[in-house]
Amino acid sequence: MSVNFGQPIAYCPYCATSIESREIAGRQRPFCGSCETAFFEDPKLAVAVVIEQDGKVALQRRTIDPGSGLWTFPSGYVDRGEPVEEAAVREAWEEVGLRVRLEHLLGVYSSPGETVVLTVFVATPESGRLQSLDENDAVGFFDPEDLPDLAFPNDEAIIETWRTGNVRNVPTPIIDLG
Ligand SMILES: [Zn+2]
Repeated sequence: MSVNFGQPIAYCPYCATSIESREIAGRQRPFCGSCETAFFEDPKLAVAVVIEQDGKVALQRRTIDPGSGLWTFPSGYVDRGEPVEEAAVREAWEEVGLRVRLEHLLGVYSSPGETVVLTVFVATPESGRLQSLDENDAVGFFDPEDLPDLAFPNDEAIIETWRTGNVRNVPTPIIDLG
């Protein structure tokens, strides 16, 4: 089975026994010794949208942590069963009031130990009006040469990839395949 919590689980959701750690399928994983259930914790899938217009990019100033007071793209978690593209369109609408058309996938961002995997699309506005709605208190279109303080480590790289159009530069990781 698969459980997707943001925090490590402390108690078994089935029998309320304290969770231990056990090596299963090559990794330490949360394990309930009472009902002998191993929990395979999935990554958390998030989506962000680089909304471009006249060479500028739509950013919002966040009002919640992480990154409260700093700027980033409309973004959010993908619901279970929800197509990632639909989540991108939904987040743009919910957070900054723009109905967007997705243009292309910009990239997928993950790193060791990070539980969130971020998928990023480039989009253009189709209708609506850029406005501050959910989880932000200011919005604007920004020139990539004159950006406000960005909230997340990936944001600069995302802007750079968008600005240069260098979307195929995916480094192949060096991993021990055994
Ligand atoms: Zn249990």
